[in-house]
Amino acid sequence: MEIEKKDIRSLTKEQLRDFFVANGDKAFRGNQVYEWLWSKASHSFEDMTNVSKETRAMLENNFVINHIKVDTMQRSEDGTVKNAVRLHDDLIVESVLIPTQTRTTACVSSQVGCSLDCNFCATARLKRMRNLNPDEIYDQVVAIDRESRLYYNRPLSNIVFMGMGEPLMNYPNVMKAIDKITSNEGLGMSPKRITVSTSGIPKMIKKMADDEVKVKLAVSLHSAIDEVRSQIMPFSENFPLKDLRESLEYWYRKTKSKITYEYVVWKGINDSKQAVDALVKFCKYVPCKVNLIEYNPIDDGEFQQASDEAINLYIKELEKNNIVAKVRRSRGKDIDAACGQLANKS
Ligand code: SAH
Repeated sequence: MEIEKKDIRSLTKEQLRDFFVANGDKAFRGNQVYEWLWSKASHSFEDMTNVSKETRAMLENNFVINHIKVDTMQRSEDGTVKNAVRLHDDLIVESVLIPTQTRTTACVSSQVGCSLDCNFCATARLKRMRNLNPDEIYDQVVAIDRESRLYYNRPLSNIVFMGMGEPLMNYPNVMKAIDKITSNEGLGMSPKRITVSTSGIPKMIKKMADDEVKVKLAVSLHSAIDEVRSQIMPFSENFPLKDLRESLEYWYRKTKSKITYEYVVWKGINDSKQAVDALVKFCKYVPCKVNLIEYNPIDDGEFQQASDEAINLYIKELEKNNIVAKVRRSRGKDIDAACGQLANKS
């Protein structure tokens, strides 16, 4: 019977060093292999040309390197690229490359499907679910960095955890991935260029503040009225806005980092003056800015983008109160790569 080999990237650097020592080699060999696995993002022991053939064979006998494969890649007319990424167990997630004049942003997934149940989001409708491992998140970033260099002649500049899944429901793995992305032994990117977007899990927002992760925080708010919010984001019934507010105040006290609220305005749901006033009030608790996201229809029309007048009212009232508000047009809509559209359709 063949025993299942361990994924070598589940080992820490220390564990890898220990493995070599236990097998009569030098701890230093662990450093070399670790570099291949992470900063060089190699997916094959064969690549590891500075270790001997025997060592490579020994690694082959003991471990596998689980890795993602870009299954299909679609390019939008606006330059956005969407990767459907196959995991080692054949599940698929999606990640997106979003180029602008000055930057290239990777939008990465943190879960297969999603733990949450936002009614307006296509990802929430996927049934199967598991958390992504740190290396599966890391690999998505590497794949997009390579595409960015290939198509746009520049490295990736920013990362947003706005793909499939709720990053704070896969906290340990997301943090391990961020650690690798920001470490000099990985990609060496600044954490300030990474945004973690959450639907708002108060306990985990506080934990992230305590852990002094230096990333930016975005919160998918969509309503500052409890009854409305729990109607469109049912899970939030367990996380009333006063708890969310408290966690955000805590975040800001600890990090001094402004929060971005993501907000879609829908006809008949949150397009009233009362809804606007509630958001303005909520925005005063913690330094923040608001991104008004264009709605990307995912179904039969239960949700519809609000009128321009409604959106203009939001902007007018927010600006009157010195809160920065921007309307965010969607990218990659023609290839289902926009916010809330990631659903493994291909
Ligand atoms: N679970 C995290 C990460 C996903 S980010 C979070 O909720 O923040 C995806 C963003 O797109 C979220 O702000 C989400 O609220 C928004 N979104 C979901 N469905 C959408 C849709 N159909 N149109 C526009 N934005 C949508």
